[in-house]
Amino acid sequence: MKPYQADIGEIFKEFGTNEQGLSHAEVIERLEKFGYNELPEKDRVPVWKRFLAQFHNSLIYVLLASSVLTALLQDWLDTGIILGVVIINAIVGFAQEGKAEKALESIRKMVKYEATVVRGRLIINVDSRELVPGDVVILKSGQRATADIRLFESHSLKMEEAILTGESVPVEKHTRPLEGDLLPGDQKNMVFSGTYATYGRGRGVVVATGTNTQLGQISTLLTDISKSSTPLLQKIEDFSKKLSFFILAVSVLFGVVSWYLHRFGFQDILVNTIGIIVAAIPEGLPAIITITLALGVQQMALNKAIVRKLPAVETLGSVTDICSDKTGTLTKNEMTVLEVVTDAETITFDGSGYDITGTVTGNIDHPVVRNVFMIFDQCNDAQIRFESDQTLLNGDPTELALKVMVLKAGIHQSTLERLATIPFDSAHKYMAVKVKDGDSIKLLVKGAPEKILELSDLSVEAKAKLRALFNHKASNGYRLIAAAWKELKDKSRTLTEADVTNLNFAGIACIIDPPRPEAAEAIAKCHRAGITVKMITGDHIETAGAIAKSLGLKNPEQKIDGQSLEKLTDEEWKKVALEYNIFARTTPLHKLKLVEALQSQQRIVAMTGDGVNDAPALKKADIGIAMGIKGTQVTKDVSDIILTDDNFVTISNAVRLGRGIFDNIRKAIIFILPTNAAEALSILVALVVGGTLPISAPQILWINMVTAVTLAISLAFEPAEENVMKRPPRKPTKPILDTYLVWRILFVGAVLAVIVYTLFYYAMYTYNSLELGRTIAVNALVAGEVFYLLNCKHIRHNVFSRDFFNNKHIFRAIGTLVLLQIAFTYLPVFQQIFRTVPLEMYHFALVLAGGLLLFLIVELEKFIVIRAFRISK
Ligand code: ATP
Repeated sequence: MKPYQADIGEIFKEFGTNEQGLSHAEVIERLEKFGYNELPEKDRVPVWKRFLAQFHNSLIYVLLASSVLTALLQDWLDTGIILGVVIINAIVGFAQEGKAEKALESIRKMVKYEATVVRGRLIINVDSRELVPGDVVILKSGQRATADIRLFESHSLKMEEAILTGESVPVEKHTRPLEGDLLPGDQKNMVFSGTYATYGRGRGVVVATGTNTQLGQISTLLTDISKSSTPLLQKIEDFSKKLSFFILAVSVLFGVVSWYLHRFGFQDILVNTIGIIVAAIPEGLPAIITITLALGVQQMALNKAIVRKLPAVETLGSVTDICSDKTGTLTKNEMTVLEVVTDAETITFDGSGYDITGTVTGNIDHPVVRNVFMIFDQCNDAQIRFESDQTLLNGDPTELALKVMVLKAGIHQSTLERLATIPFDSAHKYMAVKVKDGDSIKLLVKGAPEKILELSDLSVEAKAKLRALFNHKASNGYRLIAAAWKELKDKSRTLTEADVTNLNFAGIACIIDPPRPEAAEAIAKCHRAGITVKMITGDHIETAGAIAKSLGLKNPEQKIDGQSLEKLTDEEWKKVALEYNIFARTTPLHKLKLVEALQSQQRIVAMTGDGVNDAPALKKADIGIAMGIKGTQVTKDVSDIILTDDNFVTISNAVRLGRGIFDNIRKAIIFILPTNAAEALSILVALVVGGTLPISAPQILWINMVTAVTLAISLAFEPAEENVMKRPPRKPTKPILDTYLVWRILFVGAVLAVIVYTLFYYAMYTYNSLELGRTIAVNALVAGEVFYLLNCKHIRHNVFSRDFFNNKHIFRAIGTLVLLQIAFTYLPVFQQIFRTVPLEMYHFALVLAGGLLLFLIVELEKFIVIRAFRISK
C-alpha cells in the first residue's frame, strides 16, 4: 500500500512512530540504515574539460595561432616559449579558479536547509540532511519540504508543487486516505520534497528521504546552482574579442608598413608581427577578474552576506535604493510588551527583552484584563521552556513577547484544546484560533489593531476613539497588537476567514522593539553614498514614522500606508515611490509595486524580505535580499544575497565591499594593460624606425606571465578605499573604463615604453651588447610595473592618502617577483632560454631609478589631470 492510500494509524505502525516523534536513539539508528537525506551531487564538469576551458578565450586563440606560425617558420624556441606560457597560464588559471570555485562552493553550503521536527516530544530545528523515515515534521508557510511526508494534520496548508508537477497554483492539502493509483499532483495528503508551503501549517510523518523521494527519483538538484557568469565577465569576454581583433589588425598593418619602409624579409616581418601580438595580449586578465570576484564573495561571506548569485556583487555598486523591512532588520527584534490597554484597566510592565522577571503594575485580576491575557496566551504558537537554568525560546518574536508578558503577570493557564487555526499572514494581518473553553467554543483573534477594528462590531464613534488611541501609542514607536474574541456555536474543526467577523474588541498590547543602534550610522553612510533608504513595514504608520525618525531616514514626515497605496494609479505610484521613504501597513504586493515603480525610473533597487509572499518582489528587485535567521526558505531560494544576521548594517557593508571589488577589477585592468601597451609600443616603434627590438618575444611572454601571477593578483586583496561610500552609485550602463582610465593606460604605457627604450639604448650603446640591453630593458619594465602597482592602489587619489601598507599581499608579490627576476637574470637555464646576461649593481640602480621615475610621474599625472579636468574622485 502506498502512503497516500494508508490510514494515518497504519503509517504510524509501518514507520514505527507516533505524534510525539522518534527518540534520538531511533534517529541515529535510522540514519545508519537509510543514510543522510540528501541527493547525490550533480556530476561535476570533469577536470580535463575544466582545464581545456582555460584555452577557450580569443586572446589565447591568437597566441596559439602565433605559435603555429612560429612552428611553420621552424622557430622552435619561440614556439616552445609561446606554448609554454599558454600552458603555464592555463595551469595557473585552472588552479586559481579551482580555488575560487571551492570558495564559492563552501559559501553555497553555508545556506543550510532546516526542518522543524518533533523528536522525543520536543519541537526542534534540525539540518534537513538528518531527517529519517518516521520523523514527525512540522511545516509552516514559507518553508520548503525536504522529504516526502504523509500529513496527519493540516491547517489550510497549501503547497506550491511546480518543481514536481509544473503547476504553480498552490494545492490545498488534507489528511484523509486516498484511493487508486494517483500521480503526485493528486496525492493531496502528501507533501513532497522540494515543494513549498505557501500558506497555513501542517504536520506529517516522513515516508521517504534522499533518493527515495519523488524529487530524488526525477534527480533534480535540491540546491540552487548560482550563475557563474556575470555581466561584467561577459563584458570582459567581449572586450577580449575586440582586443584580439584590434591587436591582429594593428600588427598586420604595422607589418605591412615596416615592409614598405624597410623592405624586411617576409620571415622577419612575421616574427615581428607575432612579437606585437604576443606583447599586446593580456592573457592573464580573464582569470584575474574571476579570481577577484570570487575573493570578494568570500570576503562578503565573512562579513555575513552570502552571495548566492555572482552578478549581485557588481550590481551592489550600482544600487540607488535600499528598501528595507523594519522589524528585525532596522530594529533589534527583541520585543517587550510595556503596556496592555483595555477600556477597564491599563497594565504596565518593565524589564527588557524576553526576561520574564519585571514588575507589573495595575489590576491584573480584572476580568477584562484576564480575558485579554487569555487571548494573547492561547492565540499564540510561541513556546517558552525552562530547562535547568536556561530559558529556551521558540517562535515568532511578537508572540514570544506576548507569552513573556503573560508569564511576567503570573497568570499563565494551561493550553485550551485548539480545534482550528488561521495562521498569521502579513497579507491579512491577524491570527485566529478556535478553542474549546469548558463547554463553550471560542474564537480568539489577535492582529494589527486597525484590522481587528474592521472585523469588530463596535460603533463608529467607539472605533474613532480607539483609532486615536492607536495613533497616540504608535507615535511613541510602539508596535501595537490587538486582541478580540467571540463565542461560536459550530463545534467542528473547521475555521475560515468568513468566520472572523463581528468580534468583541478586548484590548491592545504595546510592544517596544528598539531600533538597532548601529543602523542609524549605516543609514547615514548609505545617504552619503547617494543611496536612498526606504522602510517598508507591515507595522502601524505612526510606529514606522517614530522609528524612521530615530534612525535618521530622510523625510520622516512623509509617510504612506497600504490603504492609500491601494488607491494609487501607476503614474502616482511612480511619484510616491521616488518621494516617500516610509511605507507602512504594506502587503507583499506593495513591495512588488514599489520595485516596479522605482525600476521604471531607472533606479537600481535592493529589496529585503522574509515572508513567503515577498518572493515575487525579491525576484523582481535588482538585488533580492533574504533574511538568514527569520527568513523563510522561499525567500532565501529566490534571493541574490542572504544576510546571516538579518541586520541592515550588513547590507550597507555589502554595498561597500561590492564597490571595492568593482574597483579592484578596474585596478587589475588599468594595471595590466599599460604593460602590454608599453611592450607593443616598443616593438611598433622598432618596426617603424627600423631599429632593434628592445625586448624579444620570449622575454615579453616572461614579463606578462610573472607579473600577472604575482602583482596583478595581489590587487584582488586591496581593501575597499575609504571614499567608496562617498561616491554616487555607478551607472550600470557606464563602461568599465571611462575616458580618463583609457588615457591612464595609454599614458602609462607610453611613459614606460620611453623609460625602457632609454635604458635599452643607453646600455646597448655603452656596452655594445644587445643581450645586456635587453636584460636591462626587461628588468626596467618589471621594475616599472612594481612601482606602477603601488600607484594602482588608488585609482584617483595619491597613494599615500591612506595606509600604504594595508595590503601585505602586494609586498609578498613584489618579493616573489624580485626572486623571479634574479633567477631570470642570473640562472644559466634562463640565460640560455631568454638570452639574458648578468647585471651589475649599477644596472639595477638604473632600473630602480626608472621605476621610481614612473611612480612619481603617475602620481603627478593624477594630481594635475584630475584637478585640471575636474575628474570626480
Ligand atoms: P516588517 O515588514 O518591517 O518586518 P512587521 O513584522 O511589523 O514589519 P508584519 O509581520 O506584516 O510586519 O506585521 C504587521 C502587523 O501585524 C504588526 O504590526 C502586528 O500588529 C500584527 N502582527 C505581527 N505579528 C503577528 C502575529 N504573530 N499574530 C498576530 N498579529 C501579528
